[in-house]
Amino acid sequence: MDLYNTHDSQDRIRKMEKKCISPEGSRICETDCRGGIPGAMERTNQQIAEKLNLMAELLEIRGENVFKVRAFSRAADTIERYGSPLASLDEQSLASIPDIGKNIARKIREMVETGTFQELEEVKSGIPDSLIELLRLEGVGPKTVSTLWKKLSVQSIDDLEREARNHRIRALRGFGEKKEESFLKAITVYREQSGRMTRFEADEVVDRVRSAFTPGTYEIAGSYRRGKSTVGDIDVVTTEPAYVVNPRLRTIADEVIDEGEKRTSVRLGGKRVDVRFSRPQQFGSMLLYLTGSKAFNIRLREIAISKGYKLNEYGIEDRSTGLLTEYQSEEELFTFLSLDPVVPELREDWGEVERARARSLPVLVREEEIRGDLHVHSSWSDGRLNIAELAGAGEQLGYDYLVCSDHSATLGIAHGLDEIALNKQAHEIELANRSSSCRIIRGIEVDIMADGTLGLPNRVLADLEIVIASVHSGFSQERDIMTRRILSAIENEHVNIIGHPTGRILGRRQPYAIDMDRIIERAKDTGTALECNASPYRLDIDDVHIRQAVLSGVKIAIGTDTHDQSEFRTMKYGVTTCRRGWATSSDVLNTRSLKDLMELVS
Ligand SMILES: [Zn+2]
Ligand SMILES: [Zn+2]
Repeated sequence: MDLYNTHDSQDRIRKMEKKCISPEGSRICETDCRGGIPGAMERTNQQIAEKLNLMAELLEIRGENVFKVRAFSRAADTIERYGSPLASLDEQSLASIPDIGKNIARKIREMVETGTFQELEEVKSGIPDSLIELLRLEGVGPKTVSTLWKKLSVQSIDDLEREARNHRIRALRGFGEKKEESFLKAITVYREQSGRMTRFEADEVVDRVRSAFTPGTYEIAGSYRRGKSTVGDIDVVTTEPAYVVNPRLRTIADEVIDEGEKRTSVRLGGKRVDVRFSRPQQFGSMLLYLTGSKAFNIRLREIAISKGYKLNEYGIEDRSTGLLTEYQSEEELFTFLSLDPVVPELREDWGEVERARARSLPVLVREEEIRGDLHVHSSWSDGRLNIAELAGAGEQLGYDYLVCSDHSATLGIAHGLDEIALNKQAHEIELANRSSSCRIIRGIEVDIMADGTLGLPNRVLADLEIVIASVHSGFSQERDIMTRRILSAIENEHVNIIGHPTGRILGRRQPYAIDMDRIIERAKDTGTALECNASPYRLDIDDVHIRQAVLSGVKIAIGTDTHDQSEFRTMKYGVTTCRRGWATSSDVLNTRSLKDLMELVS
């Protein structure tokens, strides 16, 4: 069978979209990329869908009957989109759902009861895990894996790297030089990101870790505490003794890597957790040391040296007498060094040490100051909540406003809104606003097309209160073209915010090539805000660009890109990222009152 016959390549496109990747890098499935922060029940549907998808992929790698493969992937698609939890349905009701049928219904019941199904485990046992891992590379689908496996005996990412470097891939039919390069690039991205957690995943691990400690006796340190957009390991400092904590850790950990009196390392949910035991009187210096960053610690050590002291994780040692002074809190230590306390998010040696010395650190934006969410989808496009439910959710959060920013009709994947739909939606919004304390602002997330035009005519955009313009296609354009494309959206008088400005998906897709200096400059001139998309899978723009934007006087719009109730709470990740970018409350658009916001965007 030809590798790229129409049917197969369509199938491939569909699956890649599922991985948020398209063969041309041309389209992103928003629904999947946002990843979802599912509640327990929806997670079950998601898990069921993932397993069925994996089954389809494995069968395809094995070169099995194409109808069998499609049956599984189609069922997975349906389940992913299915509104209510499947776990509560019996076999008969499951079988009556389109695309599911008797056979898969039985497997779903098996998964609900046992977490997997036998046929999947059988197929899995015949394929090396390292081969399955290849599927996680951007642009690599089961067909590709199958070919690489059969033709070049590629069984792992390392194998693939070697074959690509030795230029043996290009000899295969349907593969070329470009393919080799793209494999190598995908491998680099994968290695950089694999093992790193999103903030959301890190929170899940941290929540489990907390149960091993008595409140008030510990602190999470490291990059987690500094609020980085992805986290490697979880570091914990505690004043509780090892003999108390270690047994508790043993009960919650999947694996104890190393257990001791001074430190213990465990694996929890596949992630490494390092616990450091500290004497209470040394807690401050230990916490400071383990929070980092390295660059920040080096700066503090230099300051200590210049004063005739030595700074280490146990305290500050007088170099002439050898006397060690201990610190229970970080504040005492900062004070000793004649510095204002530096919040963890700023500890990167980006100038904060100088500002702490000059006592002129910025007062960073706080989550409590956020008065609304600037990027929310409703069930009019691909969100789950209807307008009334959005208003209810906003009220519950104590928000003054939400921007309902559904997709424009041009986006192929999600059901987008055209002028007629927008008018109907406006009516519904008006009704909801009559009885809600949280005002729904009429907005749109309009596509920036490949040529820089927008997905809806100006006449339609002019009617809306807030317009977010985002790139959802053609990610692989050259830097200059992509930059000009976004610049033309910035120039449009109706556009208020540029959504997820670099298009990155953490661990999955690199930011597209773009000249951020020019974007920021024009955003400043036109009064366009840049979004900090708070989804833990995006956090876009990142801290570095926020800093740059803030320095130039460009406002940041924090939006959760919520598609479901549970995702509203990702606002905190956006706020943390803004704090890392030195943003104060006046730099952030959604700290404004409704009135001030509407004035700013009118
Ligand atoms: Zn978007
Ligand atoms: Zn969106």
